[in-house]
Amino acid sequence: RGLSVGIDIGGTKVAAGVVDVHGTILAESRRATPGRDPRAVEDVIAELVRELSGDYRIRSVGIGAAGWMDLSNSTVLFSPHLAWRNEPLRRNLEQRLRRRVTLVNDADAAAWAEWRFGAGRTESRLVCITLGTGIGGAMIMDGRVERGRYGVAGEFGHQIIVPQGHRCECGNRGCWEQYASGNALGREGRELAASGSPVAGSIIDAVSGDTSLITGALVTELAISGDRASRELVDDVGQWLGLGLANLAAALDPGTFVVGGGLSVADELLLGPARRAFGRNLTGRGFRPAARIERAALGPAAGLIGAADLSRLLSRGGI
Ligand code: BGC
Ligand code: ZN
Repeated sequence: RGLSVGIDIGGTKVAAGVVDVHGTILAESRRATPGRDPRAVEDVIAELVRELSGDYRIRSVGIGAAGWMDLSNSTVLFSPHLAWRNEPLRRNLEQRLRRRVTLVNDADAAAWAEWRFGAGRTESRLVCITLGTGIGGAMIMDGRVERGRYGVAGEFGHQIIVPQGHRCECGNRGCWEQYASGNALGREGRELAASGSPVAGSIIDAVSGDTSLITGALVTELAISGDRASRELVDDVGQWLGLGLANLAAALDPGTFVVGGGLSVADELLLGPARRAFGRNLTGRGFRPAARIERAALGPAAGLIGAADLSRLLSRGGI
């Protein structure tokens, strides 16, 4: 009763699940995000919907995608990490699946799930950050996703935080997501390994010397298992995270920041340094209330849960 399929399409993986009205996942499946071809991504989505609707009666399908949606949630205007450029994704999927589909930004979906079922419940001013391939951003203000004038509000990952810094896939240099995302952590891991420093020994061993295999997910895993160099890299990312959150607090003054996405499994290794950097950089510190910084309660599954829930509510005629 009231079951939905939610699909979260990120830069590296597509996660899908059957979700009930309470946000509980009943079945799950995942695939690697196929390269640079929008059709191949649609194939994977269609396959996952077919696979998951075999054993369940599905009422609605929601897609959270790592891209910039137009206000009508039909077209992906742009995606830094995927091949969508003015892509009529909703129409394509509806034709393929022969059913209505709800399309939202992946971070909007995650924020919605955390507000409904997770760490952001009861918060009237919620900002959600997802740390995966890039940085996703979203705001839930008074129970509504704030989309901006054209639908693309919340692209916090592309705030330029280091002028002339690392090149970003959006085309600019020095975007926040080049410093505080999974991609950033992977790049730092590879650079440390390439430096020839003995400090990197354990990371290099973990990939048997093939440093091209060092990813943000791997460094996160090593950090959790206690590797010192990996912990330092996660700590650095945490500090960049906290600095960016302080900037967001100056602009938006939320009550809570929820941090989700793949990197959030590092928990205090990441959030501890983030809280410290946030406190150190918050404008007016000592003279103003400060937002809480919480780990996403639904973890990396928040995106698919939120996409499913939004599709259920929208198919019923609005939120
Ligand atoms: C994109 C966002 C997306 C985020 C997380 C960013 O690079 O611009 O639209 O939400 O990555 O996937
Ligand atoms: Zn950028």
